[in-house]
Amino acid sequence: MQIPFVSLRIEDESLHNEIQEGIQQVIRSSAFAGGSFVTAFESDFASFCECDFACGVGNGTDALWFALLALGVGPGHEVITVPNTFIATVEAISLCGATPVFVDIDERTYTMDPAQLERAITPRTKAVIPVHLYGQPADMDPILDIARRKGLVVVEDACQAHGATYKGRKAGSLGHAGCFSFYPTKNLGAFGEAGAVVTKDRQVKERIDCLREHGQSARYRHQVIGWNGRMDGIQGAVLRAKLKRLSAENEARRDKAALYNSLLKNVPGLVTPFEADLMRHVYHLYVVRVPEARRGELMQYLTGKGIGSLIHYPTPIHLQPAYAFLGLKEGAFPRAETAARQILSLPMFPALGADAVATVAREVKAFLAEKKGGN
Ligand SMILES: *Cc1c(COP(=O)(O)O)cnc(C)c1O
Repeated sequence: MQIPFVSLRIEDESLHNEIQEGIQQVIRSSAFAGGSFVTAFESDFASFCECDFACGVGNGTDALWFALLALGVGPGHEVITVPNTFIATVEAISLCGATPVFVDIDERTYTMDPAQLERAITPRTKAVIPVHLYGQPADMDPILDIARRKGLVVVEDACQAHGATYKGRKAGSLGHAGCFSFYPTKNLGAFGEAGAVVTKDRQVKERIDCLREHGQSARYRHQVIGWNGRMDGIQGAVLRAKLKRLSAENEARRDKAALYNSLLKNVPGLVTPFEADLMRHVYHLYVVRVPEARRGELMQYLTGKGIGSLIHYPTPIHLQPAYAFLGLKEGAFPRAETAARQILSLPMFPALGADAVATVAREVKAFLAEKKGGN
């Protein structure tokens, strides 16, 4: 049996038909760039996220960049985030001309440790970007509390957390703006590139609408230097149809995660994901920890059995060549660095079968039970 890391096949026939019909409508109306299908999706996605507004943009990186710009981040500012994220979180800070500042994580949830946040604030700090990594929201209440006291804006990187909740509130609705990616592998995936910002702040919505259209305030009247950051009409139609299934798909992901957790319980040397109290984790990724010395071999073993696995992410951003100029060395963020050496993402997608989960768990256990160094 081949068990891919992820499958993007549309299994549901009625969804398949609905998407095709949506695309046909876009073709018939020629609303290809921005337009009514994007507006309709924005309205649905804003209500899904319990926000007043959504802005459809080109991708998740645009979403983060525009949200920071709209909230006033610019040259001379520092923006605090975590080093264990996809590089786009940090690129967005750099694109604003601001300086990224990292803080270490909680070692169980892999999200920002609020205690570290307080210490990293300087007079130049303007914003904080908590990353809801793997589908689990960061511990937002203490983060929002610190931000309120220090006058910082909070931009949530919810690119892996569509539909996740924190104390019953939707990821993306907690800070000043919430940023989403609809890259095809995300929990809500487009047929190409797309992203969105959600907010309750009308001014943020208006600024992003302007930024994504080359800073236009009226046709060919350019108020600020913007960018071409529109969402495609076809993506709007596809996402609108897929959004209706998102909650059920997230529930399916949670079922697979629960099954993995029960099958991988008490496996020596393996740590299953920690779901913090009052969180609804949506398992964009199912990430375990394994002994550092055996991770590479385990991945090879799984490949040999036809099972996909990946590492999210192998190198924390402060150790990436692109950010060497920050002068941060190994040892700067020990929890994020240790996690990077031990984490392993196992197959996870809504249509993953229970039999496949059982096979993956059995193979992982079989490998870890082998004598170290033996064969
Ligand atoms: C996917 C992702 C992004 C970037 O989204 P794109 O649509 O690929 O630009 C940003 N942050 C995180 C945490 C992501 O997973």
